Amino acid sequence: MPKSATQAVNNTVALPTPKPGILDIKAYVAGKSKTATGVTPIKLSSNENPLGASPKSLAAYVLHAAKLGRYPDSGHVELREAIASVYGLDASRIVCGAGSDELIGLLIHSYAGLGDEVLYSQHGFLMYKIYAQGFGATPVTAPEVNLTTSVDNILKAVTAKTKIVFIANPNNPTGSYISSEEMKRLRDALPSHVILAIDGAYAEYVDMPDYTAGSELVEATPNTVMLRTFSKIHGLSSLRLGWAYCPAAISDILNRVRGPFNVSGASLAAGAEAVKDTDYTETVKLYNQNALNYTVKRLTDMGLHTYPSVANFVLVDFAKAKKSSQATNQFLMEKGIIVRDVESYGLPTCLRISIGKDEENVAVCDAIEQFLKA
Ligand SMILES: *Cc1c(COP(=O)(O)O)cnc(C)c1O
Repeated sequence: MPKSATQAVNNTVALPTPKPGILDIKAYVAGKSKTATGVTPIKLSSNENPLGASPKSLAAYVLHAAKLGRYPDSGHVELREAIASVYGLDASRIVCGAGSDELIGLLIHSYAGLGDEVLYSQHGFLMYKIYAQGFGATPVTAPEVNLTTSVDNILKAVTAKTKIVFIANPNNPTGSYISSEEMKRLRDALPSHVILAIDGAYAEYVDMPDYTAGSELVEATPNTVMLRTFSKIHGLSSLRLGWAYCPAAISDILNRVRGPFNVSGASLAAGAEAVKDTDYTETVKLYNQNALNYTVKRLTDMGLHTYPSVANFVLVDFAKAKKSSQATNQFLMEKGIIVRDVESYGLPTCLRISIGKDEENVAVCDAIEQFLKA
């Protein structure tokens, strides 16, 4: 009798093996959303918008329920045109994805593989590393100066193998940014075959005269990409929606690699209304500025060191405080307040606190003050 397929396989010891790099990945640990004690938590761990999404975008989302039986528009036309008209961009070079995470992955998938290097700054966003490893490329970091991207150090780390440089501007979890002049200096000095990917996840929050989100560099060069998301100021994290603005040759590549239905119809509908509701975006931005100022003042009044932030979170350093970041985090958890431990970002003495609703910001500051005095 012939051996069954199962027996044949069992006789050899070869087991399925993942591709090189994948076993090096330390899985991303998202900001926690539950506390041990079961009290309804105050969640300040994922830089979400505490005011939620624009009511117009929520209405579009609900209306979409009637269309759930149909595939979404694979060309994302309505959303791309809405984004293009709000920001004055060329709709044909916008590519939408399931969160900017997917677009980070598509860029690395398309341009970097085994033997190639993906470069980013020391405390850069973790997904650059995870996707690089997932596609077999080597993640490389360049030291920061004062927890800020150093263009000189990035340039020193470029090698013949570098394929993509990712700069989150502002950066998460540090909250720092570099000026548009510095970004241009970086672009001008990078080899032309290297893609500069500017991740503007928090761009809408920034109110600095020397800052731009980077679309002017996309327009002026054949090798710069700008990434944006609906997860932060637009309050649509759960929908998973992001976009990339690219030179034509790069949008062409990303459109070949992406799945035709990578963005759901509900996301396309809600996203278009969210981006068009610029009054609401402005309201959230102003709210955040006031709330951020409050939180930073409270923390510094307690003698804690905070790093300057232009985004919707603040990085607090407990290195010189009476209590460690770990002990403080533990205490907050017990009170049902969840902040972000940033040890995985190489910042073991720090906690990252997202800006929440007014009463949540009061609660986290009161709790930290109470703990430091105890
Ligand atoms: C939150 C964040 C993103 C956005 O991720 P999505 O996949 O769009 O939710 C991208 N980059 C940085 C730096 C972020 O902090």
